[in-house]
Amino acid sequence: MTASARKRVYFDHSATTAVLPEVAEAMTPYFLEKYGNSSSIHSFGREAKIALEDARRSVAKLLNADPTEVVFTSGGTESDNLAIKGVAMYKGKMKGHIVTTIVEHHAVLEPCEYLKRFGFDVTIVPVSSEGLVDVGDIERAIRNDTVLISVMMANNEIGTIQPVREIGKLAQSKSIPFHTDAVQAIGKMPIDVRADNIDMLSLSAHKFHGPKGVGVLFVKKGTKIEPIIQGGGQERGLRSSTVNVAGAVGLGRAAEIAMRDLEPTCEKMKALRDRMIKRVPELVPRSYVNGHKTKRLVNNAHFRFDFIEGEGLILQLDFKGIAASTGSACSTGSLEPSHVLLALGLTHEQAHGSLRITLGRENTEEEADYLLEVLPGVVSKLREISPFNEKSPMGPGEGGTCVQ
Ligand SMILES: *Cc1c(COP(=O)(O)O)cnc(C)c1O
Repeated sequence: MTASARKRVYFDHSATTAVLPEVAEAMTPYFLEKYGNSSSIHSFGREAKIALEDARRSVAKLLNADPTEVVFTSGGTESDNLAIKGVAMYKGKMKGHIVTTIVEHHAVLEPCEYLKRFGFDVTIVPVSSEGLVDVGDIERAIRNDTVLISVMMANNEIGTIQPVREIGKLAQSKSIPFHTDAVQAIGKMPIDVRADNIDMLSLSAHKFHGPKGVGVLFVKKGTKIEPIIQGGGQERGLRSSTVNVAGAVGLGRAAEIAMRDLEPTCEKMKALRDRMIKRVPELVPRSYVNGHKTKRLVNNAHFRFDFIEGEGLILQLDFKGIAASTGSACSTGSLEPSHVLLALGLTHEQAHGSLRITLGRENTEEEADYLLEVLPGVVSKLREISPFNEKSPMGPGEGGTCVQ
């Protein structure tokens, strides 16, 4: 088969997405002709500023926020860092208590861990075996000195959607700022920061068909927050540095498209997701679905296979032209399985045998069928060479190297 004839199927949309042609087109002038600094007062600056403010309005509309509440950042990671450190350390405070959950992205967990060094306390709330947070657990974790609650809207690995509206209500009743990482939720569910009582919300353009390296932190008016990057005072003083105008324009256009196409894309992805969740356990013996049955992102199908090492599975699927991901990370030099899968109560071996399929707006039924056609064979081939298959003298649950 020639390279051009080779089938390539992308099922890793929670890792990143393609920039849509409409988005790339909207951005291009801001690299080539309209390259002004949005803080400059001459005509180059003014045209950049106009585009930046248009983008800000588009993001505000997507979230039901006011444009003045939209802060452009370098991405989801920076937005999470700004929300957490910016609120916790407000006015130089070096103590206080933060409530978060065990399934958060590292961009939330690591800043919390960092703050512990300076004297902050962090309570990490557990989740159910389906990855769901209990609002009662959040409530019980709250203390007199709690300065922030951070709970993600939807999980990037298993797709579980958290009860953000109830947590927002709870946080408001206790006058505690509430942050949510909504990076995975954008374009896959409606979002309303007012209805959900959200004080801060993180999003990242490249997870919904915008460019990499640009994101937003929504900061509700009146939130007590300080910048974590000091400098020229751009973005109302909350995020210094010359604004990435082209990136913001791309994010704005992607936000408009996410809103415009929300219903049809969600319906399409949900149908493919449900087909996979139904068929994979039928086609592959000893396979299981991870995550929640109903409170689940429309584009997430997550599986676990006995006697399988995830990295090997990803490489075999890649060989067949299918891009997906797993919860183990041999390639990054770590044999530690994902903290999210362990939080569900899975053993290391179970967590290592996982497969994450994350759909995008362009995926087709034919592509889903192709995966369903290829997967059973790949799994059984890997099981034959697995050191922890049924026939292994060690049995499942022993040994610990990656099979590739
Ligand atoms: C991807 C992701 C991030 C990080 O966003 P970047 O823009 O890549 O820094 C944060 N949180 C979640 C849930 C994500 O999926």
